[in-house]
Amino acid sequence: MIDKNIIEKFGNLSTPFYYYDLDVLNSTLNTLKKESQNSGFKIHYAIKANANPRILKIISSFGFGADCVSWNEIDAAIKAGFNPSEIVFAGVGKTDKEIEAAINSGIFCFNCESIPEIEVINHLASLQNKNVQIALRINPLIEAHTHKYITTGIEESKFGIHTWELDYVLTRLLTMKNVHLTGIHFHVGSQITRMSVFQSLATHINELQEWFSSRNVDLKIINVGGGLGIDYENPDKPPMFAEYFSLMNDFVDLKPGQELHLEPGRSVVGQCGTLISRVLYIKTGSNTMFAIIDAGMTDLIRPALYQAHHKIENLSSEGNIYRYDVVGPVCESSDTFAKYIELPETRRGDVIAIRSAGAYGESMASRYNLRDLPGAVFSDEL
Ligand SMILES: *Cc1c(COP(=O)(O)O)cnc(C)c1O
Repeated sequence: MIDKNIIEKFGNLSTPFYYYDLDVLNSTLNTLKKESQNSGFKIHYAIKANANPRILKIISSFGFGADCVSWNEIDAAIKAGFNPSEIVFAGVGKTDKEIEAAINSGIFCFNCESIPEIEVINHLASLQNKNVQIALRINPLIEAHTHKYITTGIEESKFGIHTWELDYVLTRLLTMKNVHLTGIHFHVGSQITRMSVFQSLATHINELQEWFSSRNVDLKIINVGGGLGIDYENPDKPPMFAEYFSLMNDFVDLKPGQELHLEPGRSVVGQCGTLISRVLYIKTGSNTMFAIIDAGMTDLIRPALYQAHHKIENLSSEGNIYRYDVVGPVCESSDTFAKYIELPETRRGDVIAIRSAGAYGESMASRYNLRDLPGAVFSDEL
């Protein structure tokens, strides 16, 4: 529960806005740093989860690298202080312009998802007479047990290279002089809460390592991607970094000199962000009461896009408990944050907190209906 006294600090700030609790962010980053130092694993924060410039600056100040999926993300990362030599570039559809810019800026590695992409990177690197490092993103065929829209490692997914293509990839790579294979990369999906999924990934990685060894291919980097979930039912609960790191440590067999890389996104920023909104109207339907709030799917699209649930708190009311559908103002029926949830009696003007919204919230905001983008307020500004 968010401390209700915060409403006074919010004062007349216009809603909706993202409220970022820097104590939560810093404590998450401290844990992550400690775990990465203890294990020797390297962290590349997945910028797409939250690319707010101030958040990026704070994360880069801890010395982490960045995982980017567009040139604009790479540019934002560099501006926020991430070292280009610690930036990786992923994504199935990198454009020629993006690849050229990334080569120019000297990023660490391209995580590649298809043979045609590797050929284009090789060609563009040769034009600049450069040699660039690539990793193969391999489709691990593991069911992530998460929502289907955020499952990536199954056969019909557009992501990754299939294991049955690897022989051909290695043959093709022999002819390409401007790319150097430095490692293998995986990403099973997002919001994974079953640790057994990561254990299956580790087993799969060990098998592939043997395959590469038998062909005398030296891999320097094993990149296990991101995906560690957070507890949306318990917004004050930190992510399970210790369990996650020790699982990787116990189950991934690293060879001498190999590095293990991780790309957490959601787990880094999810719990530090709350979407703050005010109630516009209470509308009585035939079976339900609607609390129509001034935040909508344009501010936080996860419920509409993934049927995601965020915990919702009324910070203004201590009244009797009733049930409400909490909905936004956008002209779409899917603009619904929650159905039939318990809230203390809710009135026009009440301040509503939508919790665990730090990841894939602000970064996915849009201007549909020509709505304004949500603001961002940091705890040290109040
Ligand atoms: C989205 C993504 C991540 C981050 O995933 P989270 O679930 O936010 O940890 C990491 N790596 C790749 C390749 C991604 O696409």
